[in-house]
Amino acid sequence: MKYSQLFAPTLREVPAEAEIVSHQLMLRAGMMRKVASGVYSYLPLGWRVIEKISGIVREEMNAAGAQELMFPIVQPAELWQSSGRWDVYGDEMWRVKDRHGRDFCLGPTHEEVATSLVMSEVSSYKQLPLMIYQIQNKYRDERRPRFGLMRGREFIMKDCYSFDRDDDALDISYHKMYDAYAKIFDRCGLDYRPVRADNGAIGGSSSHEFMVLADNGEAEILYCGHCDYAANVEVAESGQSAAAEAEDLREVEKVLTPDCRTIEDVAAYLKLDTKKTMKALFYMADETPVLIFIRGDRRLNEVKVQNFLGARLFYMGTDADLAAAGVVQGFIGPCGQKLRVLIDEEVASARNLCCGANEEGYHLVNVNYGRDFEGERGFFRMVEAGETCPVCGGTLTGARGIEVGQVFKLGKKYSVAMGAAYLDENGKANPFVMGCYGIGVGRTMAAAIEQNYDENGIVWPKAIAPFHVIIVPVSEKSERQMSAANELYTALKDRGVDVLLDDRAERAGVKFKDADLIGIPLRITIGDKSLDKGMVEYKLRKTGESGLIPAETAADEVARLLDAAD
Ligand SMILES: [Zn+2]
Repeated sequence: MKYSQLFAPTLREVPAEAEIVSHQLMLRAGMMRKVASGVYSYLPLGWRVIEKISGIVREEMNAAGAQELMFPIVQPAELWQSSGRWDVYGDEMWRVKDRHGRDFCLGPTHEEVATSLVMSEVSSYKQLPLMIYQIQNKYRDERRPRFGLMRGREFIMKDCYSFDRDDDALDISYHKMYDAYAKIFDRCGLDYRPVRADNGAIGGSSSHEFMVLADNGEAEILYCGHCDYAANVEVAESGQSAAAEAEDLREVEKVLTPDCRTIEDVAAYLKLDTKKTMKALFYMADETPVLIFIRGDRRLNEVKVQNFLGARLFYMGTDADLAAAGVVQGFIGPCGQKLRVLIDEEVASARNLCCGANEEGYHLVNVNYGRDFEGERGFFRMVEAGETCPVCGGTLTGARGIEVGQVFKLGKKYSVAMGAAYLDENGKANPFVMGCYGIGVGRTMAAAIEQNYDENGIVWPKAIAPFHVIIVPVSEKSERQMSAANELYTALKDRGVDVLLDDRAERAGVKFKDADLIGIPLRITIGDKSLDKGMVEYKLRKTGESGLIPAETAADEVARLLDAAD
């Protein structure tokens, strides 16, 4: 490709709409442009990256025995009603009506479509296992689309569905996919970790997320330095149990705590360690108020609470919810509480805690579980870095990650709901045992940038770079330079190298800046000084390493440098 022909409008300024690096750099490098909130056009450079990631995904899916097909984006409501998800999916589902007023949605995912296809076409155990996948746009009507490709309303996903006869067979399919995912992200040149994950709205029994490690990552993960335990903090467990404290129980006292509405206020006013306090969190679970009490220094794990309650709708109560429940904001306690109360294990095992007195301006001190209050006990807090590993007793380390893929064991959830079954050897009907496996293709692109950039721009891993090599003649007016540049360009193209020749009438400095911004792994500069010595200059984007290579054998040298890169 000649740069003068390339449609890649770069920007010098950081666009105000972009909050995170990957979004900023994709806009600046001319890889994408916004069409509507959370909806983007991919320009040629960006699309090349998407195509390279898709290509790797496709190769590994095919190698794992999955078959590519294409489902429709538009899905009829009846399909979603048959699985029971039409009413529970919520506002994120992008619902549309046709001219007859019939309900449809733009597919946020395709379990229903895949299951309905297989149930009508596959009837015998002999046709199993079956794995089918597609790479397609997905739709989610996010309340607040942001972060470019990280949280868009339209996004490109690879989604795969497996159909097996029983749990053992599903295990095999699941591990094939897990291994394929590891190969995909290895090949993309990313530093990632597979972590144990929550099953979320899709449901099912087992799940792993593939997290690209990046400081800007939305997800918090914990991993063990000694074994391979790694988990999303939402599901992470701790090896340390909350042992009952040995302190003697003291008498409960009601104390005046004027204007102390936060744990920090109360602890400071009463000169207590926050570990000796408990905080109340007020949530609505399927329209019923619930109070959860955790130690004052801890964070609530909403996912664990929601799973414990089995609630479909779960959110932090609003002021109106609080008022309706009749609780005293800032002074909520578990003693004599009429609402449903959940007690974290640590609170149940601690002694002589401080809590709200359910009375404006007052707290109680020396309250104890069992004596002064009751509640449903469970593990409701976040596990923190530094705690012990639940598997080996090592120490857990915290990191941030961007979820780029997830593998789920769905089990029989959809096949039972939709009545999808095969006949076994004895002619008996059994529900399919299913798995589903997603990769965010655009998200992988954004995550690759979040993990690989510097002050000058993107630093693409070679496998997914839009071009491998950029040839920069210092002056496009020099016939000698242009002839050397064209010769190398042709030689590299013949070898199948993705090469860009910067033939624009720009100053060398501008060309260098654009090459760095776009993030091409290897730059070859052709100037008179080096040509006088029969040489051209190379520079690696990632390390900044530079040097001279003979002009005559430059194509061989470039191939060697590229092999060594990454
Ligand atoms: Zn461990």
